[in-house]
Amino acid sequence: MQLEGLLERMKLEHLNAQLDAICEQAAKKDLDYREFLTEVLQTEWSGRHQKGVEFRLAMARFPWVKTLEQFDFTFQPSLDRKIIRELSTLAFVGRGENIIILGPPGVGKTHLAIGLGVKAIEAGHKVLFLTLESMITRLTRARLENRVERQLQQFVYPKVLIIDEMGYLPMNRDEAGLFFRLLSRRYEKASTIITSNKSFVDWGEIFNDQVLATAILDRLLHHCTTLNIKGESYRLKEKRKAGIFGPPRSQEIKPEEEPETEFE
Ligand code: ADP
Ligand code: MG
Repeated sequence: MQLEGLLERMKLEHLNAQLDAICEQAAKKDLDYREFLTEVLQTEWSGRHQKGVEFRLAMARFPWVKTLEQFDFTFQPSLDRKIIRELSTLAFVGRGENIIILGPPGVGKTHLAIGLGVKAIEAGHKVLFLTLESMITRLTRARLENRVERQLQQFVYPKVLIIDEMGYLPMNRDEAGLFFRLLSRRYEKASTIITSNKSFVDWGEIFNDQVLATAILDRLLHHCTTLNIKGESYRLKEKRKAGIFGPPRSQEIKPEEEPETEFE
């Protein structure tokens, strides 16, 4: 059988696409058999890995993609870089631990959650991002249509589930009950990242039920890293830079200290 036929049959599509370039390079670099074989397999593996990353990124349904490398930590001194560095090793995913990111609007909660999600995807994990509101809407609709089990399963399955914007809307008792069921299923098996603009003391009123709120917090916080961001909104900083607002009263921002970063 011809080489191209073999590559096709064996579904080595990345190798197939780059075959001429690899052979040319090998001749130029005068590779021995072992080096050449490594190069060949590396090409196929990299192509497959990249395709997997792209597929998992699409499946994650991020509203936008930003990485931890794009996060400017000098702007958010209340955030401990060491903790973020430790989290980005993804040991928390292996242990099925949770992360809760608290702070006022605009301080980068969603950015950090997505950044960690991207890291998990690059490491081969399945990630799903959704707002609490859309999650509750989907669970409630599923219950009305008698398929709540299947819907819960979809939210239990990802190794990292990011639930964004907890606390903007209160839940009724049924909704809080569904949320509790989901967290119980994921407990100690898979990681959940939650962002919220409410502090833990206010979570009771989100769930409209103190007993459920306690049970939910218990599951969430048992193995959990909490990031409490106390800083200023990055969005306002951007506007301030554009001259829409004046400088903050507490600290004057010097233009030469501003980082070069791209924004939405
Ligand atoms: P939150 O979820 O806390 O309301 P976001 O994560 O949506 O805030 O951040 C608002 C915008 O500002 C996003 O475009 C985000 O990428 C950007 N941003 C926030 N904080 C930082 C930061 N420290 N460095 C770089 N970009 C930031
Ligand atoms: Mg947000």
